[in-house]
Amino acid sequence: MEEFDVVVVGAGPAGSITAKYAAMGGATVLMLEKRQEVGSPVRCGEGIARKWIDEVGIRLDKRWIAHEVKGAKLVSPDGTEFRIDEEHAGSEVGTIIERDIFDKALAEDAVKAGAELRLKSAVRSLTFEESGKVNGVKVESLEGTYEVKAGAVVGVDGFESQIGRWGGINTSIKPNDITSAIQYRMVDIEPDPDYAEFFLGTTWAPGGYVWIFPKSETSANVGVGILLSNVNEPGDARKYLNKFIENRPYLKKGKVIEIVSGGVPVSAPLDETVKDGLLLVGDAARQTNPLTRGGIANGCIAGKIAGETLSEAVKEGDFSSSFLMRYENGWRERLEEELYRDWMAKEKLIGLNDDTLNKMISVLSESDIDELSVYRILEEIRKRYPELVREIEDLL
Ligand SMILES: Cc1cc2nc3c(=O)[nH]c(=O)nc-3n(C[C@H](O)[C@H](O)[C@H](O)COP(=O)(O)OP(=O)(O)OC[C@H]3O[C@@H](n4cnc5c(N)ncnc54)[C@H](O)[C@@H]3O)c2cc1C
Repeated sequence: MEEFDVVVVGAGPAGSITAKYAAMGGATVLMLEKRQEVGSPVRCGEGIARKWIDEVGIRLDKRWIAHEVKGAKLVSPDGTEFRIDEEHAGSEVGTIIERDIFDKALAEDAVKAGAELRLKSAVRSLTFEESGKVNGVKVESLEGTYEVKAGAVVGVDGFESQIGRWGGINTSIKPNDITSAIQYRMVDIEPDPDYAEFFLGTTWAPGGYVWIFPKSETSANVGVGILLSNVNEPGDARKYLNKFIENRPYLKKGKVIEIVSGGVPVSAPLDETVKDGLLLVGDAARQTNPLTRGGIANGCIAGKIAGETLSEAVKEGDFSSSFLMRYENGWRERLEEELYRDWMAKEKLIGLNDDTLNKMISVLSESDIDELSVYRILEEIRKRYPELVREIEDLL
């Protein structure tokens, strides 16, 4: 039977970065992807910031850069705008990418580092030692069904992840911790080419927002994400998106050339992300930012930590959960505080009415705020409307 140090399940961005860093550290790595093509079909708004790219060792490549914006624009229900430049706008604003090409470039990096990638290879179950340690996977592929042994298996299998559940990690999330998202790729429109736009309010996106991410002067990804708890029947998210577009002549005249839909986890961080011989990374580990709904940055940041931990585990010959806690401690140290704060902010935002949102954006539009963090936003709002912040003061 084949044996690898590390089996990575899923070749999304978090999987490829995990595989790359594990392989760079000397591990033998097999990456299994159930789809026939890495990165396709795209299920993403394609917005990223540049500031975390260096941290995870991704080289900027014009093949996957579609368009660059100056910053972000938040628009309140009454139409008031607050603009902030790219440098201070968080992890999902700055560059609009071609996500399929981006994912392929990261997979290529992993392969160049020594990882083996197999497509059309779906992991159907985990295998275990008598002690309960995960020691491999069962794979269904064009060649048939086979088993691979591994020191550790990494579940990087996205929002619908099953690996965690199979391995005994509780990854279940409540409907108000899931965003149901739908997006149109629109052409023949006139988006603001300089800004990634976010529209708030119960009319357009209860508990979420509508985004317009320009891909060129005449095309954009236009999408909506609403909380699953606000969905009464299938198709609700699409109705909100259609209503938003209907109300904007500069979008209404456009054509839809692609429809993308999917779920985004917006929960608090999981209680555990490692077991003996098992790690979860990216959307599978619910590391997506619960407020912005962006998951590429955090998945890649956590993936690097996972890959580095695994290469050390190989050297030590120790894949126990106590060793793999290095990964868990590492990603929590880097990401957890922001994830918790933004999850709490999301919980509060759900309950805000349009009047309050109008007041908040109006304060921001008149402020000289230089950072789009929950902390700075609340500080600024407290100066003018202390009563608005009182009920969410614990975030400060
Ligand atoms: C509509 C929408 C818009 C979004 N917009 C943005 C945005 O603008 N910016 C941003 O940062 N994030 C955005 N996100 C979130 C972002 O797409 C995810 O956070 C990101 O893809 C997570 O990366 P990942 O590697 O963890 O998982 P994924 O990219 O989901 O990759 C998981 C991979 O695992 C494979 N897989 C699953 N199960 C198995 C199995 N059993 N065997 C083998 N392979 C398997 C899948 O085929 C897939 O290729 C958006 C999400 C949606 C749905």
